[in-house]
Amino acid sequence: MKPGQPVIIQCAVTGSQPVTGRNPNLPATSDAIARSAIEAARAGASVLHIHARDENGLPTGDPDAFRAIVEQIRSEEPDVILNLSTGSGGGLISGADRWACVELRPEMASFDCGSVNMGDRVFENPRPFLRDLAQALNDQGVRPEVECFEVGHIEQALALRDEGLLSDPLCVQFVLGVPGAAAPTLANLAYFHSLLPTDATWSVCGVGAAQLPLTLIALGAGGHVRTGLEDSLYFSRGVLADSNAQLVERVVRLANEVGRPIADPDQAREILSVPVGVG
Ligand code: ZN
Repeated sequence: MKPGQPVIIQCAVTGSQPVTGRNPNLPATSDAIARSAIEAARAGASVLHIHARDENGLPTGDPDAFRAIVEQIRSEEPDVILNLSTGSGGGLISGADRWACVELRPEMASFDCGSVNMGDRVFENPRPFLRDLAQALNDQGVRPEVECFEVGHIEQALALRDEGLLSDPLCVQFVLGVPGAAAPTLANLAYFHSLLPTDATWSVCGVGAAQLPLTLIALGAGGHVRTGLEDSLYFSRGVLADSNAQLVERVVRLANEVGRPIADPDQAREILSVPVGVG
């Protein structure tokens, strides 16, 4: 890595897991999600990964639910990059409903690049679905963030790139530590990384207790970092996180210690090849 290379901090604000009885600080209404996201941006996050929830706190792909969040964030933090989830909401959202939110023209959207175990269920992302998703994102000028949970997902990204559906430089998020998927180890991260094209950008999302050690590794290795309550409800062992901003602030402190400046949204756009003026 080049010394002093800026780090992009992405905050995954709420995710799609059930809210009951876990961490009362997890935002679960549109207003709470937007407020928490805005605080995270002000703390140093240049990319916000957003899921929407319905009036019962359940994940939804309804574009109107996303719209309420997106409009509130854009009105208060217009520069921050929005990365909307096209996930299945724990299995509640399927087919084209998964990408209905891209009508809001976010700058980025998640692209889960293959099927993967998630505890007792399988998160299904077969290649025909991914072709349709990629086409939908391309049609709207939305940059895919290629989430790789398993090593085969990198091979799949390269195959879709060869089909012309994904384009270089790939923007990759390694997701490590999901139960039943690739473990959050240095060996896995190093191997995954070794398969990327040299011009790809990469970030690490460590789930649960893996978040902090993988953050430290990414900061030292020239990668970017994802944090937030979607990925870890805890700040430290046995201590629930107060907020998304608290988790972002810690990454800012750690980055300062290792000489990585924090990328602002404009720098993040340049690093991630996100076009200006979408939205
Ligand atoms: Zn997510």
